[in-house]
Amino acid sequence: MPNIDEKLVPIFEEVLRRNAGESEFHQAVEEVFESLGRVIAKKPEYAESALIERLCEPERQIIFRVPWTDDAGQVHINRGFRVQFNSALGPYKGGLRFHPSVNLGIIKFLAFEQTFKNALTGMPIGGGKGGSDFNPRGRSNAEVMRFCQSFMTELYRHLGEYTDVPAGDIGVGGREIGYLFGQFKRLTNRYEAGVLTGKGLMHGGSRARTEATGYGATYFVDSMLATKGMSFEGKRCVVSGAGNVAIYTIEKIREFGGRVIACSDSNGYVVDESGIDLELVKEIKEVRRARISEYTRLKGGGTYYVAQGSIWAVPCDVAMPSATQNELNGKDAAILVKNGVLAVGEGANMPCTPDAVRVFQRAGVLFGPGKATNAGGVATSALEMQQNASRDSWSFDQTEQRLSSIMRNIHDTCAATAEEYGAPGDYVLGANIAGFERVAAAMTAFGVV
Ligand code: GLU
Repeated sequence: MPNIDEKLVPIFEEVLRRNAGESEFHQAVEEVFESLGRVIAKKPEYAESALIERLCEPERQIIFRVPWTDDAGQVHINRGFRVQFNSALGPYKGGLRFHPSVNLGIIKFLAFEQTFKNALTGMPIGGGKGGSDFNPRGRSNAEVMRFCQSFMTELYRHLGEYTDVPAGDIGVGGREIGYLFGQFKRLTNRYEAGVLTGKGLMHGGSRARTEATGYGATYFVDSMLATKGMSFEGKRCVVSGAGNVAIYTIEKIREFGGRVIACSDSNGYVVDESGIDLELVKEIKEVRRARISEYTRLKGGGTYYVAQGSIWAVPCDVAMPSATQNELNGKDAAILVKNGVLAVGEGANMPCTPDAVRVFQRAGVLFGPGKATNAGGVATSALEMQQNASRDSWSFDQTEQRLSSIMRNIHDTCAATAEEYGAPGDYVLGANIAGFERVAAAMTAFGVV
């Protein structure tokens, strides 16, 4: 049995039974339960009215068929999901992921994490997540558009600015959000800008939303470093991934005086000791939609590419896993520690396995869990919703300032909560308990619903 309080064991067993085979969901619940023992010891009222049981059961789970036709006229069927996990703090909020690995368990774990993450932002947003096992790789614009239209034709009836507000995630960026919004508008005959976030700047999007997750993660790690009198200045950094989160993490680290020497995609990683050329990565990933192996081909001398292999073998001071769940295991963590890593910030959702987190914490490495570290994206989505509701549009600086103060605040809340519960420096515990307390307080106020 996992390392959880005995009062929580039967609840966890029920989660395992009711969600059989959904290993990522089990992992996410277990990690939160490891922190909750201390809360129910101090505030036993939270164990009443089956509050924790209710928190583990999504309010609604939607699964639907998504038929679409490729450019050659062949019909394909994908499966669509939306898990509306918890609306205690506001409308369900969370991204859509289009990736062949998507299944109900993955969407459920992401929606569960999102509930706590969104609570930590202090913004009025509940938790949800959705997506499809559709693989956008190699698909034409027209195919992606037809897929998005079919997906929205089913999902639109469950959405609304006061009900559920999706955004992007892996495989869903500005292009897809545009197609999804276009179809929503057509089906409902309403220009309801606040129904989706991550929109283009000319049709209701927010400045700094694209950059927000990566920038926010960098602010969070900067705050952790500052507690030890350190900064990014002169630090060697490794950022896995080469998508939206990784790209804007690299950009902000560079601005803070750090040097990112490696990034990756699912095929391999690239090392450039002179510092990753961000313009080139943007060109490869955002314009050409190509593989990161192109980097060495285009840049040449002084850089190298490793197919497969672990990017965590590259020695660094700061590691920011920003690709996908469970991409960094206990062995990788041990190598990073041996190489003297000082801080690890999760840019992706749950990229470190529980073993890896234990290795970092035992070694005294500053560790920022995803639900705190990567909350800047969804926080800026909430700022986009604010701008939509007031039919306003803020400057880049104003929006980034809000983002940076939200991230500093999340950091300070996690640190203060960890301290209050007798585990100073444990950001995992701080994030889980601070997020839980906000959701639990609202759920208690609403009664048994
Ligand atoms: N997919 C992002 C996340 O994991 C953003 C969600 C949103 O903006 O709603 O937090």
